[in-house]
Amino acid sequence: MIVSDHVIQKNTGMALIVKKGQIIRVIGESTADFVVFNRNDVRERFDQARTKVDQGKIYVSTGDVLISKFNNVMMTIVADTYDGTHDMEKGMCSTSFYEKWGDKVFEIYGGTWTKIGRRREAAPDHGCWENLTGALKPWQIPMEDVPSPLNIFQTMVIDGETGTMRYAMKRPKPGAYMDLRAEMDCLVGISACPEGGRGKELRAVVYEGQLE
Ligand SMILES: [Zn+2]
Repeated sequence: MIVSDHVIQKNTGMALIVKKGQIIRVIGESTADFVVFNRNDVRERFDQARTKVDQGKIYVSTGDVLISKFNNVMMTIVADTYDGTHDMEKGMCSTSFYEKWGDKVFEIYGGTWTKIGRRREAAPDHGCWENLTGALKPWQIPMEDVPSPLNIFQTMVIDGETGTMRYAMKRPKPGAYMDLRAEMDCLVGISACPEGGRGKELRAVVYEGQLE
């Protein structure tokens, strides 16, 4: 049974409640910045580090869990049809991030920015941090308390020896989705990442039991 079905327009955010036992399906062809809070105590929120350390790896997929800073399981990934990996190293793009586009600061990443043709004037005027902050405003979550997200559908190429990483430019095939089951009453925030102009809209479906 479908509880709610939303389109999240490119470079906007949405917050929605996913009650314990309900599943949220995130469908997209570009990055979804995904954050989770305990609905009953929003001070408890998703933590990238705990999620990685507790499971001994830097990627999550079907069968893995999202863990809070208080070390509780918030959600379980119950399906994942994307044929790439999802990022848990990066934070969120933002106004301050895009203001630096083209600055020398990015040359330390091996010229990745110029290679993929990013021009300063093409930078969006805001990003996922602002989208999530706006969407979470009704819950009085301040900007600085929005955690670094699970970046669904964002594949990074990470060198295990040197630790260098770069964006893989890999795209999900149309219809790719991840299903996450709430293990507590959750407040979920999703931003349809602008990805510097290449991002697309996302769809989020909350359901109970089986879909279809
Ligand atoms: Zn973004």
